[in-house]
Amino acid sequence: MSEERSLNFIEEIIEADLRSGKHESIVTRFPPEPNGYLHIGHASSICLNFGLTQKFPGYTNLRFDDTNPATEETEYVDSIKEDVRWLGFEWKNERYASDYFDQLYAFAVQLIQKGLAYVDDSTPEQIASQKGTPTTPGTDSPFRNRTIEENLDLFTRMRNGEYPDGARTLRARIDMTHINMLMRDPILYRIKHAHHHRTGNKWCIYPMYDFAHGQSDALEEVTHSICTMEFVPHRELYDWLIANLGIYPSHQYEFARRNINYTVTSKRKLLQLVNEKKVSGWDDPRMPTISGLRRRGYTPRSIRDFCERIGIAKRDNMVDVGLLEFCVREHLNQIALRRMVVFDPVKLVLTNYSGEEWLSSENNPEDPTTGNRQIPFSNTLYIERDDFMEQPPKKYFRLAPGQMVRLKSAYIIRCDEVVKDADGVVQEIRCSYLPNSKSGSDTSGVNVKGTLHWVSASHALPVEVRLYDRLFSVEDPTDESADFMEFLNPQSLTTLSTVYAEPALSEAALTDRFQFIRKGYFVLDRDSQSGRPVFNRTVGLKDTWTASTQKK
Ligand code: ATP
Ligand code: MG
Repeated sequence: MSEERSLNFIEEIIEADLRSGKHESIVTRFPPEPNGYLHIGHASSICLNFGLTQKFPGYTNLRFDDTNPATEETEYVDSIKEDVRWLGFEWKNERYASDYFDQLYAFAVQLIQKGLAYVDDSTPEQIASQKGTPTTPGTDSPFRNRTIEENLDLFTRMRNGEYPDGARTLRARIDMTHINMLMRDPILYRIKHAHHHRTGNKWCIYPMYDFAHGQSDALEEVTHSICTMEFVPHRELYDWLIANLGIYPSHQYEFARRNINYTVTSKRKLLQLVNEKKVSGWDDPRMPTISGLRRRGYTPRSIRDFCERIGIAKRDNMVDVGLLEFCVREHLNQIALRRMVVFDPVKLVLTNYSGEEWLSSENNPEDPTTGNRQIPFSNTLYIERDDFMEQPPKKYFRLAPGQMVRLKSAYIIRCDEVVKDADGVVQEIRCSYLPNSKSGSDTSGVNVKGTLHWVSASHALPVEVRLYDRLFSVEDPTDESADFMEFLNPQSLTTLSTVYAEPALSEAALTDRFQFIRKGYFVLDRDSQSGRPVFNRTVGLKDTWTASTQKK
């Protein structure tokens, strides 16, 4: 599919730049702030940035935008690296904005020396009130016309730790009447006496995003610096700083943020879910984080496929989570090993069968190279309680008194008798099997419409199964009508604990993917204990997404 797709608008720009000789090769970067785990929105940006340098000559850096000491942690750095690699990408250089703190400081001094930056003693409130509005100009700070010498002295003393947090800032000296509010003497440095995860206590002044980002791009000679649309107004400042520092002319390009319905894609909100224990952690299988999707059973390929299909755009839009589910279902259908697991067991006894045998069944009809497995068969089995009805409606092809069905990979059986308890609850279904109806060598001549999955009772492996539903019960939980936490779906997790699986599942590994026949796609969870596996449902079998889009 990717081969036939036409170029997106950023690829068109790059192709033109290469054709015109503006660049011989390109450099992109993925620049996460290490203040949380990556989510599916980030996957779009990762696939775009790394995808560009797979398609065109050049490379991609991973750069941690760690200019905010208070919120950043090494745990986040490690998880981000793991997630990018898991998605299938490798960066050329691992960089940190904090690697450039000395250089950024020198750039700031350069601006002061050119009369393009000044130390401001105004309080945050005063700075805000000087700012003006989009329709009224701002006013100059009373400290705007300090001499270069005074500014250099004060900035050095800021760095040396002589002032408390917030006492002074360094601001660019641009134009307080500028039509772009961000150009009205933006803050470049602030005082913050805080420990930084990499530079420790070396610094007590930290550069603002706008002062670190473009300068880091330039230092790495990033040719195409791609960010999301909310940075469009920042581009003017990005260009101003690069031009006035006379450094490598990186260029910023913007694309629309990707949000998915029924969830939130903001690290801050996801952190709140973790902190308030609404989920079990960043990698809770209901989370839209890369680590959550991984634990849920998503494959890197399915996520890359999803990002490719949604493409990139200039207008913000909400993507249907059904498309993500469609992508993983497509991939899992090709690779998942088929297994039989009974979720709500009821006993079925074959009155005319004795002993036991091992029946052969294919692991994956989509991939014959996966071969067959052996499944034990005996006269006492479990089937799903809802695969039996005492008084079935017309066209009910499952089990009912006097009716016949096939047991998957085994025999045709007929229901002869039902045993119920005093409350009328079915305790046991008694059946007889047709000995000459064995799958693969059926000479019975009997045709049945229903095929049921089953597990031999004495061989059954007890497992726990976790079924997931949407984390939020409304399409857009961040719609401002209420706090997003109020929209949490109380039914997002269902745990089933009396589930019986065929014994082959005792050998499941975390990397395996399974289709539990008629139940959906599953993956082993890391909460599993020996003899007590836990499986997560990645996604159901039914494709509701193509069905709903075809209807439209
Ligand atoms: P969040 O609000 O979740 O913290 P962010 O934009 O602040 O998001 P960063 O760590 O700064 O997160 O993001 C790293 C890169 O990923 C940036 O280039 C950003 O534009 C991009 N990105 C973040 N969220 C999305 C999204 N929903 N869709 C596309 N790209 C995104
Ligand atoms: Mg952010």
